[in-house]
Order: sequence, then C-alpha cells, then structure tokens
Amino acid sequence: MTLDLETCRRAPKALLHDHLDGGLRPQSIVELAEESGYPDLPSTDPEELGRWFAEAADSGSLVRYLETFSHTVGVLQSAAALRRVARECAEDLAADGVVYAEIRFAPELHTSQGLSLDQVVEAVLAGFADGEQAAAQSGTPIAMRALLTAMRTAARSTEIAQLVVHYRDAGVVGFDIAGAEEGYPPTRHLDAFEYLRRENAHFTIHAGEAFGLPSIWEAIQWCGAERLGHGVRIMDDITLDDAGRAHLGRLAAYVRDRRVPLEMCPSSNVQTGAAASIREHPIGLLRTLGFRVTVNTDNRLMSHTTLSREMHLLSAAFGYRLADLQWLTVNAMKSAFIPFDQRLRIINEVIKPGYAAMALADLAMG
Ligand SMILES: [Zn+2]
Repeated sequence: MTLDLETCRRAPKALLHDHLDGGLRPQSIVELAEESGYPDLPSTDPEELGRWFAEAADSGSLVRYLETFSHTVGVLQSAAALRRVARECAEDLAADGVVYAEIRFAPELHTSQGLSLDQVVEAVLAGFADGEQAAAQSGTPIAMRALLTAMRTAARSTEIAQLVVHYRDAGVVGFDIAGAEEGYPPTRHLDAFEYLRRENAHFTIHAGEAFGLPSIWEAIQWCGAERLGHGVRIMDDITLDDAGRAHLGRLAAYVRDRRVPLEMCPSSNVQTGAAASIREHPIGLLRTLGFRVTVNTDNRLMSHTTLSREMHLLSAAFGYRLADLQWLTVNAMKSAFIPFDQRLRIINEVIKPGYAAMALADLAMG
C-alpha cells in the first residue's frame, strides 16, 4: 500500500541536497522583485509564476531550465532578501517534517549588486537561525546547516573552499561544485579539493547526473568526494544478466563497498532526463543492491516538490513503507557532515523514536 502524502510528511526526514536558489516561495519572488526593482519576471502573479517555473523546468530544454535560476538569483542580491529566503526555507522544510537539512548555495552568484562573499554567507546563516527559532516555536524543530557551492564553470572554487573553512564553526559544514558537468570535470578544481582535505573539511560533488562514469570516478578517486550529488549514472557500471542478477563493475563496487552516499533527487532526475520516470529511477535497484542511497529534493520550486512528496512518489513506485523511509532517513543522517555524536543524537533521539511512534499508532489503528 502506498504511503499517503500526509504520512510521509509526518515521518521525520533528513535532507542533504537542496539548493537555496531552487526553493523560493513564488510569493516571495514576486515581493522581492518588486522591492528590488527586478524587471524580468515572466509573471507577477504568484500562482502563475509557480506554474511557469515548473513548466520551464519540465520542458526538457536545459536552456529554459537554467533560465529559471536567473530569476531566483536575480532577486537574491541583498542581505535582507537572502536572510528572508533562508528563513522561509527552514520554515518550509520544518513544516514538511524535515528535522535536519544541509542547504547549498553559491555565494559567488549573489554579489552582482555589491555584496561580498562574507556578507552573502552571513545573511544566509542568519536566516537559517531565524528559521530554526521559528520552527522550534511552532513545535517542529529543525537543524539547518549550509554547504557552499562553487560554480564548476567559473574559477573561484579555492576562494569558496576557503570560505567553507572560515565559517565551519558557524553553520557551514561542507563544500560542493555544481553547474554544467560536461566539459567541466571535477579535477578542474583539484586545488580546492586538496586544500579542503588538508584542512580536514568535508565536501560533496555534483557528479554522474548529466555525465557518466568518468565524472563519478574523478570525483571520488581524484578529488576525494565523500558523497556524490545524484550519482545516477553509476548505473552505467552495473549490468543485469539474463537471470536478472546484477553485476557490479569496479567503480560501482567501490561506491557501494565504501558506503559512498548517493544524494538522489528523483523528480529532478526525471526532469533533466537522468532517469526516464520515477518507476525507472535507479534508486529502486540501488537500494536493493545495498548502496547507501538518500532521497533529496534538489530544487523544490522547479520540481514543484517537497521531501514528503519525493518519499510519497517512491512509495507509489517501489512500495516503500515506513521502515524503508526510516532506512533512507538514517542513511542520510549517517552521511551528514556534522560531527558523529550530533548525527547519532538526531538518529537516536529524533528519527528512531519518531518512526517508532508512527508504527505504534499504525498498530493501534489496526
Ligand atoms: Zn543539485
């Protein structure tokens, strides 16, 4: 039986892959555009605008997909706007039953009207703190952490990596690179990754979404990524024989055996063509094969989704029950970049009791 959306919402969840500039409320975009004089929105009606984002992202055209971000980034050029959107992000996730989130953003995209990289980071962290406080007051506590992203097509990755180390005790827990994969291999940013490793800092890399195994291999074996953003193309290294048995190539085996977390984003992967449909999404097979898969939202606005909805869709496609959601959630929490004792605390004091209570309630309902 498929878990309904409300059950998925009530289940405690952890989120590792979600972009701040991909999760704005349409209403806020309209208001921020008006306040800042941003002239280019395709609509100033929040409902119509929300639809426009989902349709553009759904169009199958990468150009249109990327255009959507020019608008969200366009209205996020002041400290006040960043702080507001970061607060709303925390509130929206908390209301969706997310108890721990690592939200990523690229500081370098928010400096076109004079903000410094430090000001961008500080505004977002302040917004997360505001949101955590508001969520706690509403009885849905959430822990918000930041990942700083460098654009793989640009040349500021070392600078952004330094920013990660500078703010690591203030709520920034890791680094990431994102943007066009093809033609921009992770090794282009080797200096940044080597610096982070010398500093004992954490990082994930967007790899194996639009581009195949070489990108995943470089991310792990050359750069030292602890997690993979998406990683769906690891499927290229898995073959199924006539009896339906899976055979893992060396890289796929390494990823599974070393427990490299895969930050999978089902709806987003379907939109960008990395998976044909939710039902055909590799997460089904990878979970069966024991890979450390996690479920994520990527861009809630563009995919018109929430983490609950992603769980609901997976439940419909693969028959996942609460025990599966707990497994996926514990996977995510184990893979978080916060200290081990803090991860354990959330698993043992929030996630496991949360699922246990839901299972008991289920039993009582008969
Ligand atoms: Zn992403």
